[in-house]
Amino acid sequence: MFEEQIDELAGLVQRARRAVVFTGAGISTECGIPDFRSPGGFWTRYKPIEYSAFLASEDTRLEAWRRFLMIHETIAKAEPGPSHRAVARLVQLGHVSHVITQNIDGLHAASGIPAERIIEIHGNGTYAKCLSCGLRHENDWVKVVIAEAGRAPACSGCGGIVKSATISFGQSMPEQEMADAKAATLNADLFISIGSSLQVFPAAGFPVLASQNRTPLVILNREETGLDGLAKLVIHADSGPALEAVMARVTMGDSGTLQ
Ligand code: NAD
Repeated sequence: MFEEQIDELAGLVQRARRAVVFTGAGISTECGIPDFRSPGGFWTRYKPIEYSAFLASEDTRLEAWRRFLMIHETIAKAEPGPSHRAVARLVQLGHVSHVITQNIDGLHAASGIPAERIIEIHGNGTYAKCLSCGLRHENDWVKVVIAEAGRAPACSGCGGIVKSATISFGQSMPEQEMADAKAATLNADLFISIGSSLQVFPAAGFPVLASQNRTPLVILNREETGLDGLAKLVIHADSGPALEAVMARVTMGDSGTLQ
């Protein structure tokens, strides 16, 4: 069964010229970054802090930053895993046009995918930004401010509120990235969701849009998702071994020999 599913995915990928890969936290668990919803995941321990609460109170901002810096310590040490490398290779081989990611860990960029092919719809947690003037601040600077002053950071340029460059619950989605993700989805000849529970909207609207547009939808996830019924192919497996098996077939098919 698994082998047949891998054969089918390899065939779809090989024929694709502008596939979109859509990724969630599950693609980075093999790199040591926990996802949110699996048992032991972050949300089983902490309730998310809404954007309005972050803006409203200095104490909440300090708490949000303390939690975020714990996650950041893990992210800063992480390296791209087998799944990130497989996706990067598919971009390089010309099968995948864009990677739309919900992840904030920067690992698709670290795997060598050019920036113009990565669409980060939930922002990037490897740095911070002033919410008033947009000035970039480094997470290490935030860490020092909190350690020395015991308060949430204020912008060194204008005094505004500094927040990780990620999109929190209740915060508006980034307009340009959402438009880019919609255009890539509508232009796709294959849409592959990897390591996402597909529970977070509007992000999970992209696989729905692909399916409405009659683009074959593939879902590769360790457990069932709410959108499995829309997919042409569903593979319940760990993404690393599955994608390595797919790549063995794709590289063989592309060149006639294994690369
Ligand atoms: P999620 O936590 O809701 O779902 C992750 C899914 O991945 C789960 O269904 C799980 O079964 C599956 N999974 C875990 N390990 C896997 C593996 N090795 N192979 C295949 N599947 C695996 O994540 P989500 O859907 O991305 O949504 C959560 C939100 O949390 C996103 O908005 C994202 O921005 C954020 N987040 C990001 C990171 C990160 O940047 N690495 C980490 C945690 C959460």
